[in-house]
Amino acid sequence: MGGGEEAAKRQRWMEEAFRMAKEALGNGEVPVGCLMVYNNTVLGQGRNEVNETKNATRHAEMVAVDQVLAWCRQNCKNPVEVFEQTVLYVTVEPCIMCAGALRLLKIPLVVYGCQNERFGGCGSVLNIAADDLLGTGTSFECIAGYRAEEAVEMLKTFYKQENPNAPKSKARKKDSDES
Ligand SMILES: [Zn+2]
Repeated sequence: MGGGEEAAKRQRWMEEAFRMAKEALGNGEVPVGCLMVYNNTVLGQGRNEVNETKNATRHAEMVAVDQVLAWCRQNCKNPVEVFEQTVLYVTVEPCIMCAGALRLLKIPLVVYGCQNERFGGCGSVLNIAADDLLGTGTSFECIAGYRAEEAVEMLKTFYKQENPNAPKSKARKKDSDES
């Protein structure tokens, strides 16, 4: 396959990931969207669902992983083999938690948009992607910077909004006094 064709495909997958990130933003979620592609087929797609589900682990990547697992069950495929040949396309650098999960699943390649300054697990805070972590899956390759400015703008828009689910500072202080 020529490099041009590969680039066009990558662009198409990222286009869809950005569409999902926009949907997240429209629903009061951290604007992250992602796709998991195996054999030129989208097996999973996700956007952040933390506020909706009131579950702090429901990042876009985790939602997509669950869809891939469901696909494997339905199609009698071995998830170990599928994830080893799956590429993740995501609008923001995976966080430390998600990077750990991607290692354990042995996903070989992640294409992402902007850096995740707060929680990034592919170099920004820790480098879970590339570090030598014996017994924690395999390291994975990253291609960063795809439409990064656009991804950052979405994050900025989100963090500028009032988050109705954030604990009030008073309540937070009271909690810490009690502990
Ligand atoms: Zn994450």
